[in-house]
Amino acid sequence: MIYTRSSALFVQAEKVIPGGVNSPVRAFKGVGGTPIFVKEAKGAYLYDEDGNRLIDYINSWGPMILGHAFEPVVNAVIEKAKKGTSFGMPTEIETEIAELAVSMVPNIDKIRFVNSGTEACMSAVRLARGFTGKDKIIKFAGCYHGHSDSFLIQAGSGASTFGTPNSPGVTKGTAKDTLLARYNDIDNVNELIQANKNEIACIIIEPVAGNMGCIPPAKGFLKALRDLCDANDVLLVFDEVMTGFRLAKGGAQELYNINADIVCFGKVIGGGLPVGAFAARNEIMNQLAPLGPVYQAGTLSGNPLAMAAGLAMLTELNTKDEIFERLARKTEYLHNGITKVLTGNNITHTINRVGSMVSVHFDEGAVIDFETAAKGNNETFKKFFHGLLNEGIYIAPSAFETWFITDALTYEDLDFTINAINKVAKTL
Ligand SMILES: *Cc1c(COP(=O)(O)O)cnc(C)c1O
Repeated sequence: MIYTRSSALFVQAEKVIPGGVNSPVRAFKGVGGTPIFVKEAKGAYLYDEDGNRLIDYINSWGPMILGHAFEPVVNAVIEKAKKGTSFGMPTEIETEIAELAVSMVPNIDKIRFVNSGTEACMSAVRLARGFTGKDKIIKFAGCYHGHSDSFLIQAGSGASTFGTPNSPGVTKGTAKDTLLARYNDIDNVNELIQANKNEIACIIIEPVAGNMGCIPPAKGFLKALRDLCDANDVLLVFDEVMTGFRLAKGGAQELYNINADIVCFGKVIGGGLPVGAFAARNEIMNQLAPLGPVYQAGTLSGNPLAMAAGLAMLTELNTKDEIFERLARKTEYLHNGITKVLTGNNITHTINRVGSMVSVHFDEGAVIDFETAAKGNNETFKKFFHGLLNEGIYIAPSAFETWFITDALTYEDLDFTINAINKVAKTL
C-alpha cells in the first residue's frame, strides 16, 4: 500500500502538534512507521488519505460498536446541531439519556455526564474519597483509567508498595495515595488493604482489562473483590469506559453479576462524540454538588450534540439487544479462525477474548496480568501489525490493546481477515 499523502500530512502536523498527534498511541511509536490519516469511514471500513480501504478492528478505540457513520447517530447529531450546539443550561435530552442509562445498567440510581472517560474516572475517585472520608486508592498494574494524575502510576519492581509516578509532572504527594495491586491476585489486594487499614477510599478496576490486551477477570476474582470491599468499608469502582454498553446492556456488572458502588462510562455511551459519565446509587450520588459537598462541573457537560449521539446509540442497543450475542459470535468466529491459522503456521501465541473484545499475544503462557502481558514478543507483533496493514487490516498500533469488534463486520470481512493473517503468519 502507498501512504504518500498520510506521510506528508504527518510531517505537516508534527510542526504544530506535539508528535503530530493529539493522543500518543496514534503516532505509531509502538510499531514504527508513519501514522495513517483517515479521510472518512463507513460501517466496518476506514478510508485513508491515499485512497486505501482498511477493515477497522479499533473503531475509535471502542465507541463505534455499530460501525462508522451509523445513520441513526449521524442523523440525531445533524438535527440537534441545527438547533444550537451548546447552552450551558439544562436540556430535556439530558434527562432522556440519563433515564435510559439508569434503566439499562444494574444497581445505579443517578448518573452524571462529563466529556471523557478520564473525567469520569477522576470524578468517581473524588466522589469515593468525599463519600468515605479516606484518601488512598488501589488500582491495578496495567489498568488504564485515563490520564489524570492519580492514575499515572505504573508497576515498577516495587509493585505492591507505594506507587511512583511514571510521568514527570505527577507529584510524589499524589503518587503516594495510589497503591498498586496485581490484576487477578486477590491476596495481593488483601495485603494492601490490611497494611493500610481504614485509609482506603476505593478500589478501581477495569472489570475486564482492555488496556494490556484483553484480560478477563479470573473466576471468582470480582466477587472476592466485592467481599473484600464490603468487609473493609472500601468502595468498589468499576471502570466500564471500555466494557460499558459493550459486553452487555448492563456491562460487566450484568455479565458477571457483581454490583459495583460507582461505575464509570465513556466510549460507547457517546456514540463517537466526547462523552463520559459516572453513576452510583442515590446515597453516593447525592454527595455531588449541588446536592452535596463534592465538587464536579463542566461547561460542555451534557452537550446537546453529544447527548443526541449517545441517546441514539443507547436506544439502538437497548431495543436490539441481540446485538451483544451477535457480536460475541462474530468475535468467537474470528478467534477460532486466528487460532487455526497461527497454529497451522507454528506461531507461538495466546488469544484472550470476552464478548466483543479479543487480543492476540505472541507468547505461549496464559496472559492474566500486566507482567504476563508484557512477556509477549513485541518484534513479532510489529511485523504482524505492518503485515496486516499491508493487507488492508487495521489493528491497534500497540501490543497492549484489545481489538474491538463492530457489528458492521460481515463474516466475509472476518474470513478476509483470517486469510490475511494466514498470509502474514508465514512471514513471522
Ligand atoms: C479509554 C479509557 C479511559 C479514558 O477515556 P478517555 O475518553 O480517553 O479519557 C478510561 N478507562 C478505560 C478503561 C478506558 O478504556
